[in-house]
Amino acid sequence: MPRRIMVVDDSRLVRVQLEDVLKGTEYEIAAYCRSGEDAIAQYGDVRPDLVTMDIIMQGMDGLDAAEAILKDHPEARIVMVSSLAYEDTIDRAKAIGAKGFVDKPFHQEQLLRVFAQALA
Ligand SMILES: [Mg+2]
Repeated sequence: MPRRIMVVDDSRLVRVQLEDVLKGTEYEIAAYCRSGEDAIAQYGDVRPDLVTMDIIMQGMDGLDAAEAILKDHPEARIVMVSSLAYEDTIDRAKAIGAKGFVDKPFHQEQLLRVFAQALA
């Protein structure tokens, strides 16, 4: 059974890059969301095994969206995928309960390693 991923990112380019990197792996993209609000609305219906969450998006940012999803679904496994890889941002992501952090631009090996850790 493939692991189902929900991709949350406001960039179409990043959504396409994630699709490319996950092609042929054990992961399949079950849903795309372009905003934190959309992710919160869809999470309960999609019930993914893992969420990749951008941080800088129009409207709600990815940290607030992750926090809101985890409040309603404490079992959610969320990996932040962002260029905002500063110590305070990574610390806040951990404090919220995110399972990992992947810097943009990402590479397949790094992404798959963090996914495996998040799902372990
Ligand atoms: Mg963005």
